[in-house]
Amino acid sequence: MNKRQPLVKTNGHNLNGFDVEEIGDDHLYTGLETPMRADAFKLSDIEKKERIAILFEEIMQVMGLDLTDDSLKGTPNRVAKMYIDEIFSGLNPQNKPKIALFDNKYQYNQMLVEKNITFYSNCEHHFVPIIGKAHVAYISSGKVIGLSKLNRIVQYYAKRPQVQERLTNQIAEDLKATLQTDDVAVIIDAKHLCVSSRGIKDESSATVTTFYGGQFNTPQKIAELQNYLKE
Ligand SMILES: [Zn+2]
Repeated sequence: MNKRQPLVKTNGHNLNGFDVEEIGDDHLYTGLETPMRADAFKLSDIEKKERIAILFEEIMQVMGLDLTDDSLKGTPNRVAKMYIDEIFSGLNPQNKPKIALFDNKYQYNQMLVEKNITFYSNCEHHFVPIIGKAHVAYISSGKVIGLSKLNRIVQYYAKRPQVQERLTNQIAEDLKATLQTDDVAVIIDAKHLCVSSRGIKDESSATVTTFYGGQFNTPQKIAELQNYLKE
């Protein structure tokens, strides 16, 4: 039997001998940057929502749903609005949180840990939720940011179609740039609904990814950090 040609073009990327369907189902990770086209922002948000509503309505039509039903009528517009304004709003660099740096006037030079930051993201291979907790830490190089800003950075990168490894690294790279230090750590513990609700249907597994930069990349600092993360 002929295997259906993948719909997605790979543009000659090196996929290490895997085809695109295998890449998606095994959640293999392809790079730090979210893959986006150069013309990603040619359409305005309003135009994108109009297009998505039309296209999502078509998906529903193809599945045979009755779009004249009062319960379904508003769904294409709701989905379009939710995609652009909420769950995928982190694709647009204009939504990147503005972060002010302050001098570390308390001269606190130990690690600062912000733990249990709840986030909701979506798997880019299946477009179903990834639900998890992020723990982020840094050691000040002389500059600090507001605590809520750590949370905002996590939320911004979560609001994209994601893979967990990329989410972890994007948060870490942003923290490094924002805080002007390599001494940052990011740990993400998340549940992927594409693993628990479909496919292999594993209810209990969770995925943990870590980034330990600079001073954090030592057994002592990792142990200290892990100690703070215990309940
Ligand atoms: Zn998935």
